[in-house]
Amino acid sequence: MDPIVIIGSGLAGYNVARELRKLDKETPLTIVTADGGEFYSKPMLSNALAKRQAPAAIPLNSAEQMAHQLAATVRVRTRVTAIDTAARRVSIGEETLAYSKLVLAFGAAQIRVPIGGDGAGAVMTVNSLDDYARFRSAIDGKQRVAVIGAGLIGCEFANDLAASGYEAEVVDIAGQPLPRLLPPAGGALLQEKLAALGVVWHFGTGVRTVDRDSGAYRVALGDGGIIHADIVLSAIGLKPELELARAAGLATARGIMVNRHLQTSAPDVYALGDCAEIEGLVLPFVMPIMHAARALGATLAGNRTAVSYPAMPVLVKTPACPTIVSPPAPAAVGEWRVETAAESVKSLFVDAAGKLLGFALNGAATSERAKLMKELPPVLA
Ligand SMILES: Cc1cc2nc3c(=O)[nH]c(=O)nc-3n(C[C@H](O)[C@H](O)[C@H](O)COP(=O)(O)OP(=O)(O)OC[C@H]3O[C@@H](n4cnc5c(N)ncnc54)[C@H](O)[C@@H]3O)c2cc1C
Repeated sequence: MDPIVIIGSGLAGYNVARELRKLDKETPLTIVTADGGEFYSKPMLSNALAKRQAPAAIPLNSAEQMAHQLAATVRVRTRVTAIDTAARRVSIGEETLAYSKLVLAFGAAQIRVPIGGDGAGAVMTVNSLDDYARFRSAIDGKQRVAVIGAGLIGCEFANDLAASGYEAEVVDIAGQPLPRLLPPAGGALLQEKLAALGVVWHFGTGVRTVDRDSGAYRVALGDGGIIHADIVLSAIGLKPELELARAAGLATARGIMVNRHLQTSAPDVYALGDCAEIEGLVLPFVMPIMHAARALGATLAGNRTAVSYPAMPVLVKTPACPTIVSPPAPAAVGEWRVETAAESVKSLFVDAAGKLLGFALNGAATSERAKLMKELPPVLA
């Protein structure tokens, strides 16, 4: 029997393998991954510095340990180059690998904005353990880090760097941190608390050029400002990896399109995680991956199961200003109602009837999370 093949060993790939193995210990399973196949929690990458955790200490299990645990073949540093859904096989360069069922869990790629200057190629991004190891060795012994993007990952890195004695300057075209997740009052508190830690903000402007300058970089901003930095980190967001899926003729939109059963437009081909778009939703976070992995594990074991999502809050790892968000659905109609107090902002997104559709909590207001969660509608019932 041909194996179930999973492409990718991130939280999506490994969790679906684990869920499958809870129900089916027999079906041959092969995991093909472009990276080293270590099992690790990616969210730890943006708070490992202040915890004094070296990159090598982050993985919970090696690829060999995962292969043993999962009774699977794990092929590391191996990139799938093509998918043939009619012949039911994937290509790894010249080699082909037949599958009975295929799971696409190949994640997302960093969005790169066009930046000029002779240092643009040295701008770093972090979306994997390998990236993070490079970043940590680059900042070792250095002092100044320019961060492009004040979204979730940019803010978390800024907090982690500043709390670890680095000088962090953050640039964002928007006027506040977490512009897509926080209403202005919440953004203002986060901005103030991170500034108190030493973070320098440059809002309402982008990066024009990054030029080499005596062993460091000169970052020129659209508003005429200049940042002198030893390292430049770009954290402006991710876009699902679509190339392989598109070349294989699978339906894609923002992500690889799947239905509630995580099934793509081709038979026996499934997708989940950062690469997938489930009923129009691209949710590049851990909680949706865990729910999707559980449903898909059951389906792969022969018990066809649809995924449903409860409300899934995201804890922003900015200890300088604890922040929890549960954003309203993109199409939700309503308004933010904001209550501010010292060290606290509670923002509730409610519809015309006063029903809670989302929230953003900063500082002391985060203690209300559990109560508010009970009132939220599910993301996918
Ligand atoms: C710094 C950081 C902090 C985060 N913090 C949080 C947080 O606090 N809370 C939260 O909910 N979410 C957080 N996230 C998001 C969360 O970590 C991701 O949604 C999740 O890890 C994505 O898992 P994935 O398996 O879909 O993708 P990935 O982890 O990107 O895995 C993709 C896998 O596919 C492999 N691959 C890709 N192409 C190929 C190919 N052609 N052939 C073979 N293998 C291939 C890669 O090597 C990799 O193993 C954070 C993300 C980052 C970057």
